[in-house]
Amino acid sequence: MALLEVSGVTVAFGGNRALDGVGLNAERGRVTGLIGPNGAGKSTLFDVVSGLRRPSAGRVVLGGRDVTRYGPARRSRHGLARTFQRLELFGRLSVRDNLLVAAELGPERRRAAQVADALLNRLGLAGIAESGADTLPTGVARLVEVGRALAVRPGLLLLDEPAAGQDGDETERFAALLRSLAEDGTAVVLVEHDMGLVMGVCDEVYVLDLGKVIAVGPPEVIRADETVLAAYLGDA
Ligand code: ADP
Ligand code: MG
Repeated sequence: MALLEVSGVTVAFGGNRALDGVGLNAERGRVTGLIGPNGAGKSTLFDVVSGLRRPSAGRVVLGGRDVTRYGPARRSRHGLARTFQRLELFGRLSVRDNLLVAAELGPERRRAAQVADALLNRLGLAGIAESGADTLPTGVARLVEVGRALAVRPGLLLLDEPAAGQDGDETERFAALLRSLAEDGTAVVLVEHDMGLVMGVCDEVYVLDLGKVIAVGPPEVIRADETVLAAYLGDA
């Protein structure tokens, strides 16, 4: 059974169907990609999965439990964490304190300082632990945001364009981090425009276009799918 099972999810903004009967599964130990042109509905789907937006139809099942009517805090207690396309760090706090604040909300709040230090090391941020979050280049700030999500030890991690602003070396290290999270048993869902990263790191890729899933499969199948190519060419 998949850790996350989304089925039939529909969201409309006025007459605009941002999501139209979307289904998506994410399994422990796997990185699941979610790609599609701008406006396809990727961030809206994350809002529905994380409980920030109630769908007009469809279900979100997490670990076999129907959480469709749960709010975000309750879902997070069931092991869900996400990052946002728009950064949501505490700009006045240091990198370490951003992680610490997040760890204090997690299941290991009594050893939050150790959790924060372990994350600093794992993410390669120890050297800038005392830097103010608002002084960081975007690519690094996104990594801190991933760290904040990891501080609550999520079973399901939703990442919305985490590699935007990273340079080539940073993206390579980030790819290794994603694989190691999957090896630890996390279910990772990755929204990302960097196709090299998506195709290199994902076990399975969903393609959204205009609120519908138009293709699902392993990277090598998605790369050769003509419907997918057409959706992206339409975007350009
Ligand atoms: P993506 O993340 O794939 O770029 P979004 O989920 O942000 O796409 O947007 C999907 C569609 O829903 C777009 O047409 C967008 O304009 C619309 N949309 C998203 N959020 C809102 C909102 N809060 N109010 C109205 N329309 C929205
Ligand atoms: Mg988006």
